[in-house]
Amino acid sequence: MFGNLCEQCFTETIIQLENNTRASKSSWCCCLIDDQVHHNWPRLNAIQIGFDHGWYSKIQEMSCKLSRRRLPGNGPCPALGSNGCIISKCRPITCTTQLCEKMIYILAEAGVICFRKQAPLQIEDIIFLPDILPDLFGRRHGGKFRQVLERKSVATYIESVSRLKVDFAAVPPERRIALANEAIELFMRRGRRKK
Ligand code: SF4
Ligand code: SF4
Repeated sequence: MFGNLCEQCFTETIIQLENNTRASKSSWCCCLIDDQVHHNWPRLNAIQIGFDHGWYSKIQEMSCKLSRRRLPGNGPCPALGSNGCIISKCRPITCTTQLCEKMIYILAEAGVICFRKQAPLQIEDIIFLPDILPDLFGRRHGGKFRQVLERKSVATYIESVSRLKVDFAAVPPERRIALANEAIELFMRRGRRKK
């Protein structure tokens, strides 16, 4: 729904890496400067082997060449492939629920959320959401992942997120594109300087 925001963010990060320039490292492409796979290893591995025992070797094979290069920060994430994230189901929770400062800016400027903060936020900071983590990780009532999708808290969560998506979808596509460009300019290009 954010159009090519992430692609632009990735490209701009690479340009800044190649040219040894940066406006702010904290605004770089999150998958290049963060490694949520190893950061969430015990929980993520437990979930992913439920789908495929060889999941980790597969993401290593599919990892884009660039993402094997050592970069500042904790990144890059080994799950970053040439077409984005290789993990298609049950990504690390932060990747699923966090909105970066560029996304928050776009949602605020589009009038979808009513406050402005130039920092990444969890989705539960911008809309009401029930605490579903114990359900998702099977820690409530000893449930299993597949069963919890029908539970009320999960249904409420999905409904809340869907409402946010509907509100954002009502913003004309050209306005969303313009805001994505504006966010890249504001967070990544403005003040870019040689290190
Ligand atoms: S920092 Fe934001 S815009 Fe950049 S890749 Fe991550 S989610 Fe996309
Ligand atoms: S798991 Fe996927 S979305 Fe999360 S940091 Fe790694 S590449 Fe990015």
